[in-house]
Amino acid sequence: MNIPMIMTPGPTYIHEDVRRAMAKEITNPDLDMNFFEFYKETCEKFKNVFQTKNDVLILSGEGILGLEASCASLIEPNDKILCLDNGIFGHSFADFAKIYGAEVTFYQSDYRKEINIEELEKFLQNNHDFKVATLVHCETPSGITNPVHLICPILKKYGIISVVDSVSAFGGEEVKVDEWKMDVVITGSQKCLSAAPGLTIIAISDDGWNKILNRSVPIAGFYCNLGIWKNWYENKAFPYTPPISDIFGLREAIERLILDKDVLKRHEKVANATRESIRNSGLELYPFSGYSNTVTSVLVPDNIIFNELFNLIIKDSNVMIAGAFDVLENKVFRIGHMGENCREEKVYIALKALDAALRNLNFKLNAEIHKEFVNLL
Ligand SMILES: *Cc1c(COP(=O)(O)O)cnc(C)c1O
Repeated sequence: MNIPMIMTPGPTYIHEDVRRAMAKEITNPDLDMNFFEFYKETCEKFKNVFQTKNDVLILSGEGILGLEASCASLIEPNDKILCLDNGIFGHSFADFAKIYGAEVTFYQSDYRKEINIEELEKFLQNNHDFKVATLVHCETPSGITNPVHLICPILKKYGIISVVDSVSAFGGEEVKVDEWKMDVVITGSQKCLSAAPGLTIIAISDDGWNKILNRSVPIAGFYCNLGIWKNWYENKAFPYTPPISDIFGLREAIERLILDKDVLKRHEKVANATRESIRNSGLELYPFSGYSNTVTSVLVPDNIIFNELFNLIIKDSNVMIAGAFDVLENKVFRIGHMGENCREEKVYIALKALDAALRNLNFKLNAEIHKEFVNLL
């Protein structure tokens, strides 16, 4: 199989050290007490990056498991749930909530902008009878980062438990769980962490645990029940056999992230230069504001067909960019600059490939995208 350079907003390139860690000999993770310590230490490292004292769990399933497990565990039938919806992931969070019986209210706002905090505050003044609110940190399809640092404290003021999908932001944008009063925060292994797809990492506050452990209706399901994880360390028992090789890889990935002191600054710098080079070349960004530092979403120009662009970039340059889905299908293309892919040289190659393909398709560019990029760094 010919592997392209994946410049997609997840999965991302996996560093050799992480791949090697996954190839290590395994032990029996249910019986070897050393593995319980290893798993605990790995969670501690995540607590450090989440900037929290809250419990952190690593679950066997990619980001979607974290979203569904949070809904399954927090939501009781007929609970009133607020779904903050300014994008595709935000909107579809409600689907998980509804599966578990939620009575969902959408707070909808412009899909091309971050959530406006004053407007949300006004809404909440008159409508705050909610048990849980779901929200998305980085809306990956549209390349928008929401101000979770402002949203979560307001939700907390009204006693609403926040469930934050930070799958494509954590590791590339700052996350301060305790200071920002975030309750349940979910990330995945395959985005900014640049580990193999397959793991969810989830931080759960005391208020979150209270709701999970003091329900009147038992949690439906086992795999999505976070309650079964409450005392895994004290009891030295995992609810099911942990995917030990994936966790070896994840451990290496989080250690690499912790050692990388400039990681957030680099995401900001590379994202800025990517956006500006794309704009200066005559293309149009999808967002009007609230730009993400981990992914750039660009309108597919008139007279260009996304699939042709995608295929041409692979054929001529062996670089893979991404399209989008749902309401943005064929409307935008995306370049991921997250985790191990947030490197100047890699984004340069991706933009050079994009530049060549657009010219090949007779799109008139105002500048050479990759050269603009270099000038802007
Ligand atoms: C990637 C991602 C997920 C996980 O979904 P996938 O099935 O891996 O695409 C969840 N939420 C967001 C915001 C994501 O970007």
